[in-house]
Amino acid sequence: MVRERKIMASSPDDDSDEGENNLPAKSPGGLGGMLPPSENDAVLRPKRIADMVGQQDVMDVIQIAMDAAKKRNEPLGHILFDGPPGLGKTTFATCIPREMGVKVDMTSGPVLKAPKEMIPYLTNLEHGSVLFIDEIHRLPKPVEEFLYTAMEDFRIDIILGEGVNARTLNLQLQPFTLIGATTRAGMLSAPLRDRFLIRQHLGYYAADELIEILARNAKKLNVQLNEDAAQEIAKRARGTPRIANNRFLWVRDFAMSKSDGRVTLDLAKRALAMMGIDEVGLDRQDRRYLETLIRVFNGGPAGVEAIAHTMSVSADTLEDEVEPFLLRSEYVIRTQRGRCATAKAFELLKMGYQ
Ligand code: ADP
Repeated sequence: MVRERKIMASSPDDDSDEGENNLPAKSPGGLGGMLPPSENDAVLRPKRIADMVGQQDVMDVIQIAMDAAKKRNEPLGHILFDGPPGLGKTTFATCIPREMGVKVDMTSGPVLKAPKEMIPYLTNLEHGSVLFIDEIHRLPKPVEEFLYTAMEDFRIDIILGEGVNARTLNLQLQPFTLIGATTRAGMLSAPLRDRFLIRQHLGYYAADELIEILARNAKKLNVQLNEDAAQEIAKRARGTPRIANNRFLWVRDFAMSKSDGRVTLDLAKRALAMMGIDEVGLDRQDRRYLETLIRVFNGGPAGVEAIAHTMSVSADTLEDEVEPFLLRSEYVIRTQRGRCATAKAFELLKMGYQ
């Protein structure tokens, strides 16, 4: 059985990095194949909700829920975060237990293959502690169903033995909080979705929020980042903090290698161009998607599976990491008959951004 390492949330007053370094490294979220170094991820990830930028509506809801739970001395209700990758779902899930002063255990949907693999996570829970399940939409159905009574009644039913000798053992659990994260809220079954008391959608970040995140991270990393360079990186970060951070780390390396380490606008532009990131923030994979849709499928309509086959990537990658931003930026529309490129996409490719 595969288990990810347990992390302890430090006390609310403790700003140490302990535990944070145990977080599973996240996927690069469309950085043209460059993986982010996981130590940087640990350094840059906000430790407290107050250190997080943007998502004010979500923060307000979470603060109220935490405040009430603390006053009642009860565990927080189950929380579901949904939204495209890299927008802060895991960050919320690690900051919340730290604010509450409780333990957190982390796993993810695809890792949990059978209900029995869920049992150690559930029986190890302490009163009020948090179990975080990333990619919860990928839980196999039997595991999902096993969670229903755990979430609702803090109880699990374990079947011992087989056939006529089978017995059911009811196991009472400590009251706990399940935090689920998903990039596909629509794929969650209604019974699972309805068991989350709080459901929050994380949207893309505004450019000024990304600039603020970059400025804070430049301080953390002790890098001099010029304001116009920060603006340029933010503009090309597809509204996503993880992408902004990864692109910033690349630009920092570029500036160190080519110059004295100060990140200027000119260096930022050169570094991003070298990575194939264009002026609107699309990377090579995004543009390949648009090119495939336009050249091979005459602009569509085309099914995502067909596009994925032509590009030799998985349809999941396209749906999770590529399409959300292209849809939001109106380069692509989804119709009942498939994906279609918009006039804006034709225009973009004609301009030949590099
Ligand atoms: P998700 O779980 O939604 O894929 P993460 O929570 O792992 O995304 O966020 C990716 C990275 O982006 C984090 O390591 C963190 O550095 C940064 N980040 C995300 N949200 C915020 C935020 N609101 N403020 C500052 N940094 C953020």
